[in-house]
Amino acid sequence: MGTEGVGADGPLVGILGGGQLARLLAQAGEKLGVRCRVLDPNPECSAGRVCEQVVGAYDDADALGRLADGCDVVTYEFENVPVESAEWVAQRVPVHPTPGALRVAQDRLNERELFAQLGVAMPGFVPIDSEHQIAPALTRVGEPALLKARRLGYDGKGQFLVSGAHDAPAAWRAIGGAPAILDAFVPFERELSVVAVRARDGECRFYPPAQNVHRGGILRLTRAPAPGVPAGLRERAESAARAIMDHLGYVGVMAVEFFQTGEGADATLLANEIAPRVHNTGHWTIEGAPASQFENHLRAVLGMELGETAGSVASAMVNAIGELPDPVRVASVPGAVLHDYEKAPRPGRKVGHVTITACSPAELSARLEHYTRVVG
Ligand code: AMP
Repeated sequence: MGTEGVGADGPLVGILGGGQLARLLAQAGEKLGVRCRVLDPNPECSAGRVCEQVVGAYDDADALGRLADGCDVVTYEFENVPVESAEWVAQRVPVHPTPGALRVAQDRLNERELFAQLGVAMPGFVPIDSEHQIAPALTRVGEPALLKARRLGYDGKGQFLVSGAHDAPAAWRAIGGAPAILDAFVPFERELSVVAVRARDGECRFYPPAQNVHRGGILRLTRAPAPGVPAGLRERAESAARAIMDHLGYVGVMAVEFFQTGEGADATLLANEIAPRVHNTGHWTIEGAPASQFENHLRAVLGMELGETAGSVASAMVNAIGELPDPVRVASVPGAVLHDYEKAPRPGRKVGHVTITACSPAELSARLEHYTRVVG
């Protein structure tokens, strides 16, 4: 471990947000001798159970000051932190990833314009500022299409499937009449993501592409490495991630989500969105890679050497949505490890996840089947 930024008691990392991503960062920090302190308005937040917490709002200067006080670096665990707050902190303590990355990721239009600027392929889209722009836009992107609010959309929220011009009023209402993009509906083969990390000196490392299954807009299952990804496709995904991170002067972990269309030699990737933070599709790295995405994020933002990303095993991650699975049943599946976020059960809420590792893709498939049989 490098010495830059290391205080007498080990480095201190401040995190805007105290959900499960901050919790998993704090747990990874324990291994590195790194302490974490989170800011979250919820006194019962998930990360506050495993590390120091400042209870306060993200736009409260006093709370932001208490978060930053004595920190070597401040980072964030969700992209809806106000950019102004990240900028305010950055005048006092280094903030990584750069608040500029937040500004891009908070707005789907900014994100897509960045992809266009960097030559990253994406679904066709049209910016929408009023209900009356939807029908003409449909003639450009085709039917059906997805109307997506530009801001504050996550886990499929703020989206409406528009099957024709007659849906325009309902779609506009459903997303709250806010600025949006109309996205061509992509009949994808599968969803892939690349979790990447960029160090302060610009070195980039990539975890193998993961295959993701969403239901109801929520991630259910990740499998890594994604089976059958040709080398060329993987290189294209990595070079897109690298171009985005280089452009932003990015430091830390970033995820890029793609749709794969076509198969084999005809396979193409379309970038959907970026997450300027550790990402749910990288949770498998806790048990499945030599250095997890959480460890590598801390290493990057603290200016330390990056850890190894090449997973030597086949891994999967199953989200626990609404309630935790029975721990005894999980433990009966070989290679399965339960991560409990200590969050109150609630429909649709991510309350934990299970990683499953195996020595080969075939063994992983068998373990996943076993898991589904005994856990559900
Ligand atoms: P997003 O909020 O953009 O990540 O979208 C949530 C989920 O909706 C994605 O993971 C996809 O399953 C689906 N989705 C989003 N955009 C499209 C699209 N243009 N075509 C087809 N499905 C999409």
